[in-house]
Amino acid sequence: MKSFLEQNISQDSLITLFSQAPVAMSLLAGDDFIIQSANPQMLEIWGKGTSVIGRSLFEILPEIIEQGFREILENVYRTGEIFKGNKWPVFLEKDGKYDEYFFDFIFAPVFNDDKKIKGISIVATEVTDQILSERKLKESEYRFEHLIKKSDYPIAIYSTEDLYIEFANEKMLKTWGKDVSVIGMKLEDALPELEGQPFIGLLKDIFKTGETYASKEARADLIVDGKLQTFYYDFSYKPLKSPTGEVYAILNMAVDITDLVLAKKEIQEREKKFRDLADSMPQFVWTCDNRGEITYMNKSWYRYTGSSENENQTSLVKSMMRPETIGKVDQTWEECVRTNTPFVMEYELEDPTQKGNYRWFLGRAIPNFSENGEVNQWTGTFTDINEFKQLETQKDNFLGIASHELKTPLTSLKLYTQFIKNNLEKAGDPKNANVARRMDYQIDFLTGLINELLDVTKIQKGQMQLNESTFDFDKLVDEVVEEQQMTSRHKLFVSRSGAIGEVFADRHRISQVIANLISNAIKYSPNADEVHISTNLYEDQAQFNVRDFGIGIPEDKLSKVFEQYYRISGSKDYTFSGLGLGLYISAEIIKRTGGEIFVSSVEGEGSDFCFRIPKYKN
Ligand code: ADP
Repeated sequence: MKSFLEQNISQDSLITLFSQAPVAMSLLAGDDFIIQSANPQMLEIWGKGTSVIGRSLFEILPEIIEQGFREILENVYRTGEIFKGNKWPVFLEKDGKYDEYFFDFIFAPVFNDDKKIKGISIVATEVTDQILSERKLKESEYRFEHLIKKSDYPIAIYSTEDLYIEFANEKMLKTWGKDVSVIGMKLEDALPELEGQPFIGLLKDIFKTGETYASKEARADLIVDGKLQTFYYDFSYKPLKSPTGEVYAILNMAVDITDLVLAKKEIQEREKKFRDLADSMPQFVWTCDNRGEITYMNKSWYRYTGSSENENQTSLVKSMMRPETIGKVDQTWEECVRTNTPFVMEYELEDPTQKGNYRWFLGRAIPNFSENGEVNQWTGTFTDINEFKQLETQKDNFLGIASHELKTPLTSLKLYTQFIKNNLEKAGDPKNANVARRMDYQIDFLTGLINELLDVTKIQKGQMQLNESTFDFDKLVDEVVEEQQMTSRHKLFVSRSGAIGEVFADRHRISQVIANLISNAIKYSPNADEVHISTNLYEDQAQFNVRDFGIGIPEDKLSKVFEQYYRISGSKDYTFSGLGLGLYISAEIIKRTGGEIFVSSVEGEGSDFCFRIPKYKN
């Protein structure tokens, strides 16, 4: 070999081989390890240039002395034994930075022709990157294992078709109500209660199919704390396959959703209870969204209409309305949606069993608010008020007829009474004349009540006519006040901020309103002595106020006093007579005159009624 090298290979070729080798190489001479040669790869490892040639290794890399390299090299030099370092850590200072590197290397003795050791050859490969990535992998493997072990979700691995529990993390053991002693056992032995449940069969199938199995809200009955309990899981069985595609184990991951499922079941049960409740009601109960699209109707509705749940109920309801009322209902509904206020409206719906026959219903709906304060749905009802409406019509008809029939004899009675009164006065019988005068007064009172009933009938039939003309408003007020003053012990004070002058309206009807407000003020202030009346001009409108110091009106009743037949019930009521129609009629008159009427009041302190009517006809 030697002769072959000497004879055939030039010195230059050897140097080229040396310098181009993919490994780092160097030759150290003598026992002071003088660097004879070092290829560029070795110089790079050292972080030095060619100037190091001819100098001692420990002179250029003093940091490796403490790392035991002097002893190693000296040992090789002395004994001739090769030293191999595998993934050996070395700290080197390069560019002023001290860092850890890793090498596979060989220190081998170099002999002369007399077989005497003359130096040491170094061959090294840097494996720093490999070691660091191995380390990282280890760390991440460790972290992953730790993560799985400590995972909040139950995880287990079953191996072979016999389903040995290869691995089960803490959560899975807790789920099973078992400890680590089950690891290594067959699943069916560790959890005998699984017999008769689908899990073992499903797992064994996966060895045949090789397919992942996943299930949601699956019920599992497990013996935990000594008793069989029901749990619910979302879980998956994932096959782990060898490179040849064979299933060798199954990874089982699960999420315990027992609480969630139980809560859901409870909500469903509660919902069912409410549905049953709604279904048992004779009224029609429904829900709808903000657009008025019906989302639920109770069973009574389906029975009544003979429709099915598949039909569009929103369209059905619309088709049952009188065409001319649809617009009005929509308008009211839109206003309620805009203001998030309850919807209340009476309208007719066609009788499903008798085409062309309509029944009256009271439609009501209240907004349901979500947690963020927005309306998420409306809950509503339709109540059949047809009979009530019929009775109401009967009552109105009766009142109309009765008051009309009473009016005629009453008019005669008034005439006869006046006749008797005049005769008695003439006959010089003042005592009996006075009785006749009282009779006359009571007849006036009765006439007033009957007139109220007649007015209501007229209003309802839309027959209340206004005979409008121009008259002096201030004069009218004076007249009515004077008339009221004659029969009242209260002092009626009138104050004016300037004259109102002429007004175009129904003089008689306006005087009726003024008289009604003043007589109420007197009637409802039994313990007061004064009533204050005032008039003034308000932006081209005649304004009339009556202020009393009487019982007042509770705040929640204020909006109702203008309703038909409304009388405030309560312990104080019994002393005040009346039909509860005066303010209703007054409000109707003012409305038709194009004005407004309103009230402010403090219970126990008194009330202030006010109306305004335009001075001129628009
Ligand atoms: P009534 O014939 O009962 O007086 P009204 O329609 O005139 O009927 O009034 C309706 C209800 O409003 C009365 O029953 C009463 O409870 C209340 N009310 C009206 N005016 C007054 C007032 N000035 N003070 C207190 N309550 C009043």
